[in-house]
Amino acid sequence: MTCPACERYVTIEDWTDDEPFNCPHCNTLLKLVTDEGGYCGASEKYLEIQEED
Ligand SMILES: [Zn+2]
Repeated sequence: MTCPACERYVTIEDWTDDEPFNCPHCNTLLKLVTDEGGYCGASEKYLEIQEED
């Protein structure tokens, strides 16, 4: 998985965990998002930058 902020590789330890976490490279708060909109029952996961208040 690639960080959308710094585009460096981030290891996902738990693909079911959707708690926000900090990128180990650039410290941007990221969240693992599941896109259920795929066809054939495919769900796509990607990292999204999580905005902090
Ligand atoms: Zn990063």
